[in-house]
Amino acid sequence: MADSDVLVLGGGLVGTAVAYGLARLGRRVTVLDEGDIAHRASRGNFGLVWVQSKGFGVPEYQRWTRRSSDEWAAFSDELQRATGVSSGHERPGGVTICLNDEELERRSQRMAQLHLEAGETRFEYEMLNPAALKKLIPAIGPEVAGASYTPYDGHANPLYTLRALHAAFIGLGGSYVPNARVDAIDARPNDFRVNAGGALHAAPKLVLAAGLGNRALGAMVGLHVPVRPVRGQIIVTERMQPVLNMPTLMIRQTVEGTIMIGESREESGFDDTTSPEIVHTLAQRALKTFPFLRHARIVRSWGALRVMSSDGLPVYEQSAQYPGAFVCTCHSGVTLAAAHANHYARYVVEGALPPKLARFSTARFNVQAAA
Ligand SMILES: Cc1cc2nc3c(=O)[nH]c(=O)nc-3n(C[C@H](O)[C@H](O)[C@H](O)COP(=O)(O)OP(=O)(O)OC[C@H]3O[C@@H](n4cnc5c(N)ncnc54)[C@H](O)[C@@H]3O)c2cc1C
Repeated sequence: MADSDVLVLGGGLVGTAVAYGLARLGRRVTVLDEGDIAHRASRGNFGLVWVQSKGFGVPEYQRWTRRSSDEWAAFSDELQRATGVSSGHERPGGVTICLNDEELERRSQRMAQLHLEAGETRFEYEMLNPAALKKLIPAIGPEVAGASYTPYDGHANPLYTLRALHAAFIGLGGSYVPNARVDAIDARPNDFRVNAGGALHAAPKLVLAAGLGNRALGAMVGLHVPVRPVRGQIIVTERMQPVLNMPTLMIRQTVEGTIMIGESREESGFDDTTSPEIVHTLAQRALKTFPFLRHARIVRSWGALRVMSSDGLPVYEQSAQYPGAFVCTCHSGVTLAAAHANHYARYVVEGALPPKLARFSTARFNVQAAA
């Protein structure tokens, strides 16, 4: 039997960020990961480290997101020093483009409310008219009505981030077991046994970080984790000369030069294929935003499944029935990677989640169910 201090179920961006944080704190950690047949949001996402849309009506989420984004540059540097792999992280600020007055008005109201709700954290933003936006991003097209800007937004290469996290975790002595799907958990308070990947693994602590798999795994340790798939489709172009100096919510240029165009939000169950209608709609919007794209060749498009809770917020909880079992899941695992490595891992070691994360506990789902 392989003993560890903590078993982490799931080796995507969430699981490896937490596992890396735990290993950095000197814990013996084993990550059990189902592998390539699983749906894996970490390998199909858009790569934004994004603040400006997060936490509307939930200031706790705004603060948590902001904290992660503030820590991302140091987090990325640390991973690069440890592994030689650059996450490609940049934080030049970001804009959300509006294509008509109605979108702009809605956006403006939303930003004003986020600003109000931020309180002491502060939330600096600007609403930009087309002329001001063109000064910031000269490639913007004539049909754009305006945009919101915050300095807090950025982007990274999610695949390199995942690779760096894996390498850093293993460099610290962590154990990563691929092709290790967990179907059952033998759970007792602070005593968990799992048979996976051809071996029995045991630890006094367990972190569920299996993305869409958390729903079934949560039930095995007394945690209600109502996550569902929400599909997003993304288009990517050939590499181009640097033309976009900052990311926008739906279009960004990667450090390699490709332009990523995203991303839909569809209730499609576990179907992660692409559809011509959605790709067409995304491309139309992209052309209106950046007319230069009419000359760009599309090289690939794909669909991937977000891990979405019923209210869109992360789910962070320790099981009351089986203390020592934690769940960590969210729909913005790139953005929150720094917070998961730097803070969530520490809370697991300390054995308790702090009151400031109470808003993300599963208790809110019980209230919803009772209402
Ligand atoms: C189209 C799209 C665009 C996105 N854009 C952004 C963005 O711009 N910025 C951002 O911050 N986030 C974005 N996201 C969200 C982000 O990708 C996810 O929040 C993040 O990848 C979730 O990581 P995860 O580790 O929880 O899940 P996953 O990446 O799904 O990983 C879960 C892992 O658990 C394993 N697993 C599952 N079940 C089991 C089991 N029973 N036993 C063992 N292992 C198991 C799987 O093999 C998998 O490796 C986007 C997502 C999508 C789909």
